[in-house]
Amino acid sequence: MSITIFQNASIVDGTSDAPREGVNVLVEDRHVREVSDAPIRATDARVVDLAGKVLMPGLIDCHVHVIASEANLGRNALLPDSLVAAHASVIMRGMLMRGFTTVRDVGGADFGLQQAVEEGLFEGPRLVICGKALSQTGGHCDFRGRYDVRDRHAFDRKLGSLGRICDGVSEVRLAAREEIKAGAQFIKIMANGGVASPTDPIAFMGFSREEVTAIVEEARNAQTYVSAHLYTDEAIRRGVECGVHSVEHANLVTAETAKLMAEKGAVACPTLVTYEALKNEGADYGLPESSVAKIDDVRLAGLRSLEILHSAGVTMAYGSDLLGAMHRHQSEEFVIRGRVLPAMDVIRSATVDAARLCGMESKIGCIAPGAYADLIVVDGNPLDDLALLTGQGRSMPAIMKEGRFVKNTLDA
Ligand code: ZN
Ligand code: ZN
Repeated sequence: MSITIFQNASIVDGTSDAPREGVNVLVEDRHVREVSDAPIRATDARVVDLAGKVLMPGLIDCHVHVIASEANLGRNALLPDSLVAAHASVIMRGMLMRGFTTVRDVGGADFGLQQAVEEGLFEGPRLVICGKALSQTGGHCDFRGRYDVRDRHAFDRKLGSLGRICDGVSEVRLAAREEIKAGAQFIKIMANGGVASPTDPIAFMGFSREEVTAIVEEARNAQTYVSAHLYTDEAIRRGVECGVHSVEHANLVTAETAKLMAEKGAVACPTLVTYEALKNEGADYGLPESSVAKIDDVRLAGLRSLEILHSAGVTMAYGSDLLGAMHRHQSEEFVIRGRVLPAMDVIRSATVDAARLCGMESKIGCIAPGAYADLIVVDGNPLDDLALLTGQGRSMPAIMKEGRFVKNTLDA
């Protein structure tokens, strides 16, 4: 049994706008066992004094694509699976070293990658997966260009593909069932046009109402929910009416639709950093011209959407949605959101609220008895300066995942 005691910690977890001071935390093997204001003693414990430092639950990013090793997703889908897996291991290690101990992959990652992390084959965050995102022909995961008449299922089984194509109620039901059988913990659909795909302007509606409703039923039958790629107000409203729970991006939402989201308990997962990164670097990293032209259709509405969602009382989860070499910007979403939202709410989106969206409430995103010992130590208070969470973990002297330090420079 391995025991670590963190002493004199100031805890910041997104549930209070001031740190909880003078806390002691006992970690036994993979879990937090005790959290106390009084000193904790245990024999054979490794004691880490955190006076002057902040202890946070490991961060959670609810919108990633760990298999996106290239910004050009059509090209990525054609890479050999082995190469994609190797790239994914490097991308995931980068995420962990930024303090993200759990990520929700919303298209692409499979059970094998999830299992590889669990077996310790490489260092990475815990993966919550949906398998392949479902897309209609010509939708956001159809990477065939206008004159490309390859079979629509050409990419379906490639690890490097974010999604698979299905059309019609019976096909979408089968696709959802296959993903759930393969280990999907929720179902992702592409219900609106997108930036990174060649033939679907942003305003395109993905799937018919009947198809979306059928997928929602399949997800509910499997005791889970549907997450949908959505930008325009019309598409968000239709999705939420059909029972979509997790609204990805939501850039063009109106106050009226945000109100409906709040009433229905739908969660928003904005991903503003990716539009900044795509705008600045996308073309350099191989984003096709047809995609570059679409970025500003969603980028410019970004901060306004945060204000609209916040004032409607919609729960928000942290998302980054970065591709290829742009993954290094993952933590900058904290700073972008901090421009319009209170720091506590921004942190909450990457802790408790994210944990709930991952279906792992009280196991992750909190520092409490019974939770996984996913912990990060921060030099300073992120409630005062969210930029402390950026810089590739520069201000994080220690990162622990499931009771094991994956980084520890505290003794140095
Ligand atoms: Zn999307
Ligand atoms: Zn995405």
